[in-house]
Amino acid sequence: MSFFGVLSITPYALYRYYTADLTVAIADSFAIISILVAVIYAWRTNNTVKPGLYLAIIFSTVATIVTLKLGINGYFWIYPLILFNFFMVSPLRALTIMVTVLASVVIYHTLHPNTVFPNHYQMVSFLVTCLLSSFLTFIFAFRTQHQRERLENLASHDPLTGAYNRRIMAIELNKAVRDTRSMRIYSLLIMDLDHFKNINDTFGHLTGDQVLVDFVRIIQASIRENDQLFRYGGEEFALLLPDTNHDGLEVVAAMLKKQVSSKLYSPAGSVSVSIGGAVLNSKESYPDWFKRADDQLYIAKQAGRNCYRIAAPDNLSYQAA
Ligand code: GH3
Ligand code: MG
Ligand code: MG
Repeated sequence: MSFFGVLSITPYALYRYYTADLTVAIADSFAIISILVAVIYAWRTNNTVKPGLYLAIIFSTVATIVTLKLGINGYFWIYPLILFNFFMVSPLRALTIMVTVLASVVIYHTLHPNTVFPNHYQMVSFLVTCLLSSFLTFIFAFRTQHQRERLENLASHDPLTGAYNRRIMAIELNKAVRDTRSMRIYSLLIMDLDHFKNINDTFGHLTGDQVLVDFVRIIQASIRENDQLFRYGGEEFALLLPDTNHDGLEVVAAMLKKQVSSKLYSPAGSVSVSIGGAVLNSKESYPDWFKRADDQLYIAKQAGRNCYRIAAPDNLSYQAA
């Protein structure tokens, strides 16, 4: 968009300098420089929200000035501006910006009749077509946003339990491993329900499914808001805990084990969980971290189930904690 923006505005800026129309020439030049600044910012930070809003405001201001200064030769720019704004910012923000632009033009026309539009009739035609275009684009953008949110939700959650899925687990654990600058301590718990196959074999899959749903409900009710629960296998779950050190992880694992054994039931009685855990070591990869926690789960299973084991703390990272 920025490429086409620069390509289409630059000839106009040059022409306005050539014809000594300085206000419009400066406004056009400002728009071109703003595009370049926004692109460089987005490129460097990976943040497209801030430069999007910045450009929407700059372009709307420039298009308003051009409309007020040039009348019919300028106000055709409002139509691509509508598309640009709805592409760049959220539907509600874009609508607010467009209503502000149109209100400014109408107020200016009322205060200075016959300067922007030759008559009221043309002003009303302009206003009605712009409002119609804005509202139609708003509906389109709003619906697209809603559909995108639904798709994102479907692509990131396990449909049975509502926990995050394996794809998101890989993304979030990798993010934690890469987050070396913040000095945050990340911990991981791997949980596997005990003798779950018996529940399926005895009472059927639907009963097994209900136990999985109940398990996730119990865990979600026991963890903090920024802890993330993932279902990465049939009855295997991972829990990512930011800002949690070795001692904290022991406390959480003990608490979750107790919550599950006291609240989770199948028709045969109480269901328990075995848990393995590990604090993220410095310079460790995501699979290595995961494996250390999973090894502890295996040890917990060997130790008789319904218990937890946490990997011994790494000296270096533990001191840093
Ligand atoms: P252990 O204590 O050693 O973990 O024994 P287990 O029986 O829990 O372990 P195992 O891994 O043998 O059994 C897991 C079972 O989970 C086998 C599979 O049929 C069942 N399972 C996997 N996904 C689902 C699911 O979505 N719904 C249901 N109901 N069962 C599932
Ligand atoms: Mg299993
Ligand atoms: Mg199991």
